[in-house]
Amino acid sequence: MSKNILVIAESREGAIKGITKEAVGAAVQLASQLGGEVHTMLLGDAELATELAACGGAKVLQAAGDALAAYTPEAWTAAVSSAIEAGDYALVVTGHSYQAIDFFPRLAAAYDAPLVPDVTAVTIEDGGLVFTRKVMNGKLDARTVPVVEGVIFASLQQGAFPVQEATSTATVEEFAVDLAGVSVRKVIEVREAEKGDVDLSAADIIVAGGRGVGDKDKFGVVFDFAEALGAAVGASRPPCDSEWVEHERQIGSSGQVVAPKLYFALGISGAIQHLVGMRGSQCIVAVNKDPNAAIFQEASYGIVGDLHEVVPALLEAVKEARG
Ligand SMILES: Cc1cc2nc3c(=O)[nH]c(=O)nc-3n(C[C@H](O)[C@H](O)[C@H](O)COP(=O)(O)OP(=O)(O)OC[C@H]3O[C@@H](n4cnc5c(N)ncnc54)[C@H](O)[C@@H]3O)c2cc1C
Repeated sequence: MSKNILVIAESREGAIKGITKEAVGAAVQLASQLGGEVHTMLLGDAELATELAACGGAKVLQAAGDALAAYTPEAWTAAVSSAIEAGDYALVVTGHSYQAIDFFPRLAAAYDAPLVPDVTAVTIEDGGLVFTRKVMNGKLDARTVPVVEGVIFASLQQGAFPVQEATSTATVEEFAVDLAGVSVRKVIEVREAEKGDVDLSAADIIVAGGRGVGDKDKFGVVFDFAEALGAAVGASRPPCDSEWVEHERQIGSSGQVVAPKLYFALGISGAIQHLVGMRGSQCIVAVNKDPNAAIFQEASYGIVGDLHEVVPALLEAVKEARG
């Protein structure tokens, strides 16, 4: 059985993404236990090969060419397939990003192989790989053991694997990909989403509401409390998806990253995608009616209770203190 691991890199704004560095670190640790090598694969961004090589692993497979200049699921699938054919891999990993959600299932389906998405831990038990992932809205951990002879695909959750200090620098090898015969869509333009008017990065205090607030009308309590504190209003993803508040208020892996002096998390469970956007806050106060909510593990202060009782009481206290 092969023991090597292939990591598919992602870049953004001219740099290797943090989620890729996390994946390389996890792969290097795993490969050392398996007794295999880590190869990383860079598609399109030839100038980032040195940065990727410094993340660790044995070699960087650098695939360039016009068809790889911009991401497309067809070209990425074909290029990674070529690397899998040329190498001998037990596991192919990447960060669990929108890009991975787009092309990894296509790749796994092409190999009729298992895909374990959004993995939070990988261990080796009885010589086999055991993947842990969150289920039931993050309340339970599911252990997945793919029972196959061939390659396994897994995408790793952002923030679940710390970036490791590299102990070696990989060698860079050009990897030729033949995309003749592959029908690749043409990318005409890549547009960044507009940032909008809400800039949470400058706020000293943020009051953020989550799904636990209940609905759009009830979100008024979050705005009232924020106003009394002179704070900005943020949100986890569900209130933005449900259009209770504007999308630019979203904090987390697909929203803004903030680090205020004081962060109130009201009715927010503490999913990793939210935590990566706010765990740099100096002081975190969480209000949640579930005493086992993950947010309490990050909080400096935790209040177990119904936010619609707790926040009005806090609001009164703030008003009183301010005279
Ligand atoms: C690729 C990807 C990107 C993502 N990006 C982001 C992102 O950028 N930001 C983000 O936030 N999420 C993101 N998510 C979603 C994330 O996984 C979680 O689903 C989300 O953060 C959960 O939001 P929540 O905590 O508000 O809701 P829930 O997880 O539903 O939690 C609601 C909480 O409110 C509590 N509650 C309910 N009623 C009350 C009450 N009356 N008083 C007090 N507490 C109450 C509950 O106990 C619960 O803990 C992303 C997911 C994926 C797959």
